This record gives sequence, structure tokens and C-alpha cells, in this order.
Amino acid sequence: MRDTPRSYKLLIGEKWMDDAASTQVSDKYTGEIIGTVPVASRETVEKAVAAARAAFERYSMVPAHMRCSILEKTAALLEEHKDEIASLICREAGKAWKYSIGEVLRGIETIQFSAEEAKRIHGETIPMDASASGEGRMGFYLRRPVGVVAAITPFNFPLNLVLHKVGPALAAGNTVVLKPASATPLTAIRLGEILLQAGVPAGVFNVIVGPGDTVGEWLVTDRRVAKISFTGSPPVGESIVRKAGLKKVTMELGNNSGTIIEPDANLDEAVSRCVMSSFANSGQVCISLQRLYLHRAIAAEFTKRFLDATAKLKIGNPLDKDCDVGPMINEAEAIRAESWIKEAVAEGAKVLIGGKRDGRVLYPTVLADVRLDMKVMCNEAFAPLVSFYEYDSFEEAVRMVDDSPYGLQAGIYTNDIAKAFYAVEHINAGGIMVNDTSIFRVDHMPYGGNKMSGLGREGVRFAIEEMTNIKMVMIKP
Ligand code: NDP
Repeated sequence: MRDTPRSYKLLIGEKWMDDAASTQVSDKYTGEIIGTVPVASRETVEKAVAAARAAFERYSMVPAHMRCSILEKTAALLEEHKDEIASLICREAGKAWKYSIGEVLRGIETIQFSAEEAKRIHGETIPMDASASGEGRMGFYLRRPVGVVAAITPFNFPLNLVLHKVGPALAAGNTVVLKPASATPLTAIRLGEILLQAGVPAGVFNVIVGPGDTVGEWLVTDRRVAKISFTGSPPVGESIVRKAGLKKVTMELGNNSGTIIEPDANLDEAVSRCVMSSFANSGQVCISLQRLYLHRAIAAEFTKRFLDATAKLKIGNPLDKDCDVGPMINEAEAIRAESWIKEAVAEGAKVLIGGKRDGRVLYPTVLADVRLDMKVMCNEAFAPLVSFYEYDSFEEAVRMVDDSPYGLQAGIYTNDIAKAFYAVEHINAGGIMVNDTSIFRVDHMPYGGNKMSGLGREGVRFAIEEMTNIKMVMIKP
């Protein structure tokens, strides 16, 4: 029997509010409606920003130890409700249970890191007498919260990517208006309940839901917003930067991640990591492995082992505990990815496994005989789709990984330290993972992209730097 969909509300100030229009949120595997959510009107967006702005005056004065306690309580509550929240992610995002619960556990760590960092926000002294004009003066700088942070988030990590904005913002004394992806707003609203329960003061955290091109735009163009922290696709990121005006911005955008497998690599380890990196969350991860460069000496052996492991993946309902690959976020996206595969095949590529689509489910797909100028190599696939490319020269492989409009993360498997150094020096990306794939991330490391992959860095301490202003103090006796 189906449950009655829960009716969710928007969090504005300390109030849970309805609005005139509403939208439905579905289970991405079964299609069942699991929640209805109000769509914020312009007036509601105004109220949310006003509530955040008013709350900033008080919250920015809350001492660090109290901000830390609120975040510690939030982590404890997330831990207490982890299975329930993982089920919500599983259903609204279509993410396999093992990755949904993994996301909640990571989210708890993100908030714990935020609690710790709340106590470490500080400036430094400046040797004023380094200039003759500064003699006899004392100087230091402080880091102060910027004000209202507008957080705009994508569908693929409805909890942890929200927490990467909310945790650092609250740790630093900022207030937040969050606009989650329209496909996955329920986890964000549930987080609002948890934050209130943890003692977050009224107005410090607000959630509004609605389409990016209306609700999102009203938020980013509001002059009371001091900082926009956006995670999503490059075209939307670029359009936000154009419209934002004089605001701080952090942009976490897409990638067409590459990883190199050298002949001296540990193949057992490389194969299992590469399979997970290509297909986890149906490849809908910004650092998903999309371009796999295989040295010709190990290409045949690697390919055989990779295909054997891929054939064993369990595809189906994300709520099943042993599911590896669930649906994509919607059928249009699955059709789009399938059309890229068909186009590559028409241009000479070969499907080694997969290539089949069943509604929203695209089966894990491996392509060989691809050309570097095919869409599956040049653009961000954001689908359970990986392309194999054989090479002879290591330097050439590094050049190909680097030859991308994106620059988020890349990986290289080698036990030769000189090759690892070469890759680190020659690939223009925010992160190079040696003996792992592009997908590696822990939540306190600096994370973000170069080129079309973005501006600025997340990773709790680094996000706090971007959410604070430096205030210089000079004292003359
Ligand atoms: P989108 O860019 O489509 O949407 C992201 C968010 O922006 C959503 O909340 C969306 O709202 C909102 N939005 C859309 N248009 C506007 C607008 N004009 N003004 C303001 N906000 C707007 O991304 P997806 O949700 O499809 O996520 C996939 C993308 O995110 C991929 O490119 C992926 O690589 C990237 N990503 C990057 C990460 C990183 O850390 N670098 C991590 C994860 C994903 P609505 O849902 O209503 O359209």
C-alpha cells in the first residue's frame, strides 16, 4: 500500500509556511509521489531574505563556543535520524541505499568539522614596521561573517552538498537562505527541522523551494545577499555570476573527469575503484569517472576485469540494500545520455557493456574506440557512462586528461613517483588524486575547480575563508 504523500512547508524565520502554488516530489524509481512542497512566491523570497538579514544582527554576535555547540547538536541529531534521512535521499534522489547512507555519514562529518572550525576562525598579526610609515603601530586582522549567504544546491547530494554550505556559514556566524534543487527539496526541509531542534535561532536558516529561473534568480539578485554559494551546472553558474552584482561568489561546477592507469599500477585496486567511480549514483557525481586512459600494455587485462565487475552490479530499486545502480534523476536525462551513446556509436565507438535504457534507468555503459572530439569525451556526461581510451605515451595521456574545458579533479594510478609528480605538475585541476580516481574526496580537504569547473573552494575551513571578510585593525598609541 502506498503512503499518503507528506505535506512539507517552507522555513521562513521561525515559521513553517505555505504558499499559493505547490509542487510534487516523486520517488525517482517508482514514480510514486512522496511529498508536496509549496513553491515560494516573490513575496516569500523577500520574507526569507529579510528574516535572514534581521537574524544576522544577533547571530553574528553569538560566541564561537555556542555556534560550535549548535553544530555539535546538529551532528548528533543527524546521527540519531540517519536511517530515516538516508531513506529520504534514496527516494527523492534515486540514490542507491549504500550511497545514501554513505552521504548521511559524510554529512555528519561535515557538520562535525564545521563545529570544530567554529572555534578556529582567526586572523594574524601584521608586522606594521616593515614599512617606515607603519613604525610604532600595531596591526592585525580579524575574520568577520559576511552576512546573508544564498545557498543554491543541485539534486545529486541533497544533504552533504547542502551541509557544505550551511555548516561553514553557521560556523562563521552567517545566516542562510537555502534554495535546494526542485527535484530534491525534501531532505533540505528535513534538515531545517533538525537545525531548529539543535537550537539554531529563528531566521538563521531559511528554506525556499521553486524553479531556479524565478526563485533562484530573485534570491541571487537580492542586494541584501552578501554571498552566493552555488553548486550546479556550468551554464547556470555562469549566468548567476553575470547577474549577481557586487557579491562574493563560490561556484562549484561540473567536470568530465579523467583518470590514467599506468602499467605499474595495482590493477586489483584500480579496477574496483574505477567501477565504483564510474557508476555510483548512476554517474551523477561532479567527479564521476568519465574518461579512462589505459596504457596499451594493461588495457586488455584491465578491460576484462572491469567488464566482469560491471556485469555483477545490481541494478534496480535504490531502497534495496544490495542495489548498486538506481535510476537517473528523470527520464529526459536518461534519454539525453542514451542519445550521446547512440551518437558515439554512429561515429564509430563500440559498446562493451550496457547501452540499454529502461525508463529512467540507464544501464552501466562502457564505450571503447571513442574519439577525443566525441560528446562522451568532451562534455560532462553526468550518467553511468565511461569511455576507455588506450595510449602508448604517458606524457600524451597526461596531456589528454588536461585537455578539457573543465578542471575539477583527476586521478592517476602509478607506483612511479616521477610520473605522479609529472601529472601533478601538468594537469590544471583543483585536485590530483594519486593511486585513486577523480572521485576521491573527504570533506575537510580543499575542493573546487579551475577553468569551467568553478571559482573558489569548499571543504569546511576553505569555505569559511570564502564566507568571511577580512577586517584590518591598526592601533596607534
Ligand atoms: P543545475 O545547474 O541545473 O541546478 C543547480 C541549482 O541551481 C538548482 O537548485 C537549480 O534549481 C538552480 N538554478 C537553475 N537555474 C537557476 C538560475 N537561473 N538562477 C539561480 N539558480 C538556478 O544543476 P543540477 O541540479 O542538474 O546538478 C548537476 C550539475 O551540478 C552538474 O553539472 C554537476 O557537475 C554539478 N555539480 C558540481 C559539484 C561540485 O562540487 N563541483 C557537485 C555536484 C554537482 P532547479 O532545480 O529549480 O532548476
